[in-house]
Amino acid sequence: MTSAQKKVIIIGGGITGLAAAYALQELARKNQAPVSFTLIEGQPRLGGKILTDTDHGFVIEGGPDSFISQKPWALELCRQLGLENRLTGTNREQTATYILHHGRLVNLPEGLMLLVPTRLRPLLSTPLFSPTGKLRMGMDWIIPKKRGTEDESLAGFVRRRLGREAVERLAEPLLAGIYAGDAEQMSLAATFPQFMELEQRHGSLIRGMLARRREMRGRTPSGREPSPGTIPTTMFMTLKGGLSELVTALVSKLDQNALMIGTEAERIHWKSGLSTYHVRLKDGTTMTADAVIAASPAYVTADLLAETDATLVRSLREIPYVSTATVSLAYRKDSFRHPLNGFGFVVPRSEGRSIMACTWTSTKFPHRSPENRVLLRCFVGGVGREDIANLAEKEMVNAVRDDLRAIMNITEEPILSRVYRWEKANPQYPVGHLDRLAGIDDRLTRLPGLFLAGAAYRGVGVPDCIRQGNNAAERAFAYLTARQ
Ligand SMILES: Cc1cc2nc3c(=O)[nH]c(=O)nc-3n(C[C@H](O)[C@H](O)[C@H](O)COP(=O)(O)OP(=O)(O)OC[C@H]3O[C@@H](n4cnc5c(N)ncnc54)[C@H](O)[C@@H]3O)c2cc1C
Repeated sequence: MTSAQKKVIIIGGGITGLAAAYALQELARKNQAPVSFTLIEGQPRLGGKILTDTDHGFVIEGGPDSFISQKPWALELCRQLGLENRLTGTNREQTATYILHHGRLVNLPEGLMLLVPTRLRPLLSTPLFSPTGKLRMGMDWIIPKKRGTEDESLAGFVRRRLGREAVERLAEPLLAGIYAGDAEQMSLAATFPQFMELEQRHGSLIRGMLARRREMRGRTPSGREPSPGTIPTTMFMTLKGGLSELVTALVSKLDQNALMIGTEAERIHWKSGLSTYHVRLKDGTTMTADAVIAASPAYVTADLLAETDATLVRSLREIPYVSTATVSLAYRKDSFRHPLNGFGFVVPRSEGRSIMACTWTSTKFPHRSPENRVLLRCFVGGVGREDIANLAEKEMVNAVRDDLRAIMNITEEPILSRVYRWEKANPQYPVGHLDRLAGIDDRLTRLPGLFLAGAAYRGVGVPDCIRQGNNAAERAFAYLTARQ
């Protein structure tokens, strides 16, 4: 290492840390800058929540199974890594999504954009809402917009604009499901700022969505014009062999000597006089760096920083997390009676079931299951339902099978079952989350060269994590090269 060589330690080898490492390596290469990194991952494998298993021709996702294409960062990274031919969309023939309503699966009315009705006829004919509920949704057209832009809960916002039934039967199961959260607590500004913007710009969600639909007409779902020869983009995209392909491709591009796997970081010390960080590892060694990117969960980052800034540590610890689990079950197709005619279903809390949602994987992503088999994946846990995610494996599978029997009349024995537990895995963005982030940013000005990124902060989905990883790398690079 020359005297001008600058070193970054990246803590956490989930998608955020890996994206940061790759972006930093590319920046150093393109600018011929003497900036290197070491990535420290506590577990024996890289990828964090991204975990794909293959078994007897099934591709089983333990964590995320796809990413939204409207947020471009995951697609862009796949293209940069040469994974374009591995990208695949969802089934275009069977696109229905169902919602459990009074114990029966009801098709979501056509024309719903996020949760805003944009077509009258399907709304009028759906049994999902009462006549009064439908009328109340229509009142969004005339209810004046809110004055001021202070944060409110997702449920409060939807109740104000579209009424109570829209909260219970749409917002809570569809949107809160993404965060495994409670719509009554979730910050609108941090989770669905586009709703605030629609209300402020158009005075009505329905009018705003109709305007957006007109803008989008003629474009791909990702909002971009398709270029010749590129694969068609659906709302959700994935990789043929599972999202772990993204992790494998990223890791293969990284300097292999820069990866320290199976070694937990324990403490970060800031030496202000020297402008360096000392990172102590669980194995007793200490490493020195000019900058640190902490891409670990917020409560881990709080522990790492325990001896730096008490206010920062408190704010990080206040970011709540909940536990979830996924249960994948496979069956023989010939003895399976349900048609699996759609992507799956979501379950409102009021239905009192164990499962939050069920993806009919072999329909949504047909290549993930052999021809003569079917594959389902159920989500359990989340705010208020964490006890189910903590059950013993056999009990959890039984609870899921009880629900599937009651909802889909599945009595067959699964030929394969896989449980993936995600303890304290889903960060929550309660009302005021953005103010908390502003407070964290303020404290970080006292620790120059320290950058935080990942699902705890500005978006939980894979694309947002990649964006945050890229952004942390850019800021670390700018910080180091400005000091050369
Ligand atoms: C069940 C489930 C389903 C999901 N489905 C989707 C989906 O379909 N689409 C989507 O876009 N998103 C989905 N998400 C969200 C998304 O997967 C995650 O938000 C994202 O993968 C988080 O990435 P990350 O790198 O920020 O964090 P993580 O993946 O949690 O990575 C953090 C890493 O830090 C490591 N670490 C922790 N402590 C230390 C330490 N002391 N020292 C060193 N390393 C440490 C961990 O081992 C881990 O590898 C899902 C999440 C879950 C749990």
